[in-house]
Amino acid sequence: MDLFQYKNGVLYCEDVPVDSLPAKGLPTPFYLYSANTLRLHYKKIYGAFEKLDPVICFSVKSSNNVHLLNELAALGAGMDIVSGGELFVVKQSNADLSKVVFAGVGKSDEEITDAILSEVGYINIESEQELARVQELAGDLKREVSVLIRIQPDITDEKTNEKTRTGYKGAKFGIDYANVEALIEENADHPFVKIKGLHCHIGSPISSYTFYEECIRKMVGLTESLKQKNIILKVLNIGGGFPANYMDNDNFSWESFAGPIIELLEPYVKKEGFKIILEPGRSISANTAVLVTRVLYVKKSGDKNIAILDAGMTELIRPAMYNAFHFIWPVKPEAQHLLTNRNYPVEQEGLTNYDVVGPICESSDYLAKERALPPLQQGDYVAVFTVGAYGMVMASNYNLHVRPAEVMIDKDKIYIIRERETQQDLVRKMIRHEL
Ligand SMILES: *Cc1c(COP(=O)(O)O)cnc(C)c1O
Repeated sequence: MDLFQYKNGVLYCEDVPVDSLPAKGLPTPFYLYSANTLRLHYKKIYGAFEKLDPVICFSVKSSNNVHLLNELAALGAGMDIVSGGELFVVKQSNADLSKVVFAGVGKSDEEITDAILSEVGYINIESEQELARVQELAGDLKREVSVLIRIQPDITDEKTNEKTRTGYKGAKFGIDYANVEALIEENADHPFVKIKGLHCHIGSPISSYTFYEECIRKMVGLTESLKQKNIILKVLNIGGGFPANYMDNDNFSWESFAGPIIELLEPYVKKEGFKIILEPGRSISANTAVLVTRVLYVKKSGDKNIAILDAGMTELIRPAMYNAFHFIWPVKPEAQHLLTNRNYPVEQEGLTNYDVVGPICESSDYLAKERALPPLQQGDYVAVFTVGAYGMVMASNYNLHVRPAEVMIDKDKIYIIRERETQQDLVRKMIRHEL
């Protein structure tokens, strides 16, 4: 569900017709965000889990523009970060730092120190050595810090792309489940580093609630076993990875997804005062943006039709990297090609199969293969949908392309929230000096 809909023959973002934007001096490609879609999705996730009174820590790695983070912070969201850079941007936002959780397998001394001094809510510990390092640094600073232990639960959803699985045995993420209990026992009394609970994030996206149930049972089992030893853990962070709606017909029911998770956790929240943290990224951000791009050329290559856009893997790498599906359609199609929904394949007469590619000198630079689309003409504007998560955040300067602008619509208001880079920006740090 999002607020990108065809009305009066053209794609609208909220109350703004998308084809009106290039005329206002916005060169393509650009990312176009809907502020109300962002709000809607945050509220939907919060609503689904409301009975657990959770803290929703938005995964900043999925979408990191400070102005978008501010919209979420205004609704009470915390932030899930994975680097010092993300901590820096969150500190520029209005987010409450006590609602920040900091994960990542390779935090540097500088990042850990910054997190401690910034008084983030929790550092998620991903190895025995990292815990020792946090203890040393907190001890040196004489500052208290709360941590969660990220367990490696040995749970795999075979439907999750192999590149985004994180919970299997042997993964680089988290601490082997078999070693977690002893580690917590040995470190329960540290004067500065307080182990408050457990963390788990098993990948992205996760297709069924059953994987969360399995993971939660493991976490709860650990807390019960530790309770026998008078070690009380009351924070459970069940991570992110909730699915996003990449097509209208996903038919996803939040009630049936969240229901069993709530059932499992509610007794611990209500009777024992557990605090629940969620780290959704794509389920909030994926639907919030489209990439607006233009057809530069159309050509025949063998028996294929190739549509060459001014955007490609440098703007959106998900098709190249994960073979991800993104719905693509012209911003202003001919009348017979207007859409009321975005299910693929589209049941319409007169479509042509295209390989939709970018300008980058790589064969992996494509946005869609063998995609049935209305006939495309040079100069047509085309929208690539559901790019709000892992879109702009993964944009690069490969081939020395400038990274695109980000634009946010709030009803009829249009805000530039990140300027398009300039070619000067591309060489700004190329400074030669002798060390
Ligand atoms: C990436 C990540 C998330 C968010 O995953 P989504 O699939 O975008 O919800 C949450 N927690 C951690 C630790 C992550 O690395």
